[in-house]
Amino acid sequence: VGAIIDELAAAVGADNVRTGEHIKDDVGHDEALTATPVLPIAVVMPSSAAEAAAVLEVCSTAGVPVTARGSGSGMSGACIPVEGGIVVSFERMNQILEIDADNQLAVVQPGVQLDQLEAALAPLGLAYPVYPGEYSATLGGNIATNAGGMRAVKHGVTRHHVLGLEAALPTGEVIRTGGRIVKASTGYDLTQLIIGSEGTLALVTEATLRLHPRLAHQATVLAPFTAVGEIVSAIPDIVRSGVGPVILEYIDFLTMSAITGRVGLDLGIPEDIKTNAMAYLVVMLENAQGGRLDEDVERLGIMLAELGALDVYVLPPGAAVSLIEAREQAFWVAKANGADDIVDVVVPRAALPAFMARVQELADTHQSFIVGCGHAGDGNVHLSVFQPEPDRRQAVVRALLESGIALGGAISGEHGIGTEKRKAFLDLEDPMKIVLMRRIKEAFDPEGILNPGVMF
Ligand SMILES: Cc1cc2nc3c(=O)[nH]c(=O)nc-3n(C[C@H](O)[C@H](O)[C@H](O)COP(=O)(O)OP(=O)(O)OC[C@H]3O[C@@H](n4cnc5c(N)ncnc54)[C@H](O)[C@@H]3O)c2cc1C
Repeated sequence: VGAIIDELAAAVGADNVRTGEHIKDDVGHDEALTATPVLPIAVVMPSSAAEAAAVLEVCSTAGVPVTARGSGSGMSGACIPVEGGIVVSFERMNQILEIDADNQLAVVQPGVQLDQLEAALAPLGLAYPVYPGEYSATLGGNIATNAGGMRAVKHGVTRHHVLGLEAALPTGEVIRTGGRIVKASTGYDLTQLIIGSEGTLALVTEATLRLHPRLAHQATVLAPFTAVGEIVSAIPDIVRSGVGPVILEYIDFLTMSAITGRVGLDLGIPEDIKTNAMAYLVVMLENAQGGRLDEDVERLGIMLAELGALDVYVLPPGAAVSLIEAREQAFWVAKANGADDIVDVVVPRAALPAFMARVQELADTHQSFIVGCGHAGDGNVHLSVFQPEPDRRQAVVRALLESGIALGGAISGEHGIGTEKRKAFLDLEDPMKIVLMRRIKEAFDPEGILNPGVMF
């Protein structure tokens, strides 16, 4: 081990390699509720692509596993190091290198956090519209997990906003993919291959991101319904209507009372409505022009009443912001209340009613408690599963994942496979696709040093 540490120190400078008691416990885990923490032999902090590539060359030669780490906010165990392996932390590569307003793009290092990018873009009237619920997450982590979040219903996910990458390969080279162009038809799309690869193919050392104009006018509409099933049945009509929601979320009543209770948020809903409301729909609309927004809000309100809403509220701006912030806290609230696992199945949006009915059946069959909320517009749920007995928990989670696939969905909409969904992924995916993915992995990483145990 000593010799490897010396070589790593030669690659990045001795001050940028942490070992022993200097390694913080935090590095050993992410936010997956089921994963076991592991500490690495060293945390290495490169300052450039060349240094990252040098680190990879040392580790490839010595056969030392390498796990990239952003902020550790992942939900699948994908940034947990391997016994005897190192962590590459991008905390020193945290600069926004350029914001190009004319080409509507930003060039960032992988350690830039979402809140940092947001603060730089807001005064310029620009936005990077991918907002997964945790703003301390890094762009490197977002790219590696293909993060989604609440606004994907309008803007899509991370892969729709990455124009190009710089990446260090496990074989020691640095490549550039894509660029400052919005289209290219030139061979295999390596940018898209690296996005969502959970740190198994390459270390992302720079990204060119697509930006959007920041629209001046927003309105948030809240509609209580008597059942989750009614809400998810209404989603296709809302999407089809053309009002173009930027957020289209469902929140079940237990989750709603837990998240609003935590921050002391009173949405002013009358008691008689609250008593009958088993679920809530949250719709945010935005527009460059206030008048157009008002027209869309009115149209939406009429539509929601026709679709069975108990009532429709246009929230005052302060309450709207607080509700979205409270929704972003849903995971922490579930964790604090003892949730045993989080499931983020995605199904075609029109299959959500069938999926949610199945969720209730499975909860009953497996004597488990399942609540949650989700990106209903994307057909993507975030279910908190309460079942402390490990075998039972695994059985109910597995049944949920299988139900999602049976409806034409996927076992993870945005949190990724990591280590925690690896078994289900390998069991349930088309075996030929797994063979091809393994071949791709081998082409990038012949020594298998990058994130072994993640996905495969
Ligand atoms: C409260 C909460 C809410 C969340 N809500 C959402 C949500 O709505 N939507 C959503 O999509 N996610 C959500 N997440 C998950 C999480 O925020 C994302 O997965 C995020 O993209 C991870 O970023 P990170 O910097 O924390 O990455 P980490 O957790 O550190 O790492 C994640 C993966 O990226 C790899 N990686 C990190 N940096 C690099 C790099 N430079 N090169 C190559 N690989 C790299 C790691 O090896 C690992 O495989 C939520 C998490 C929390 C805690």
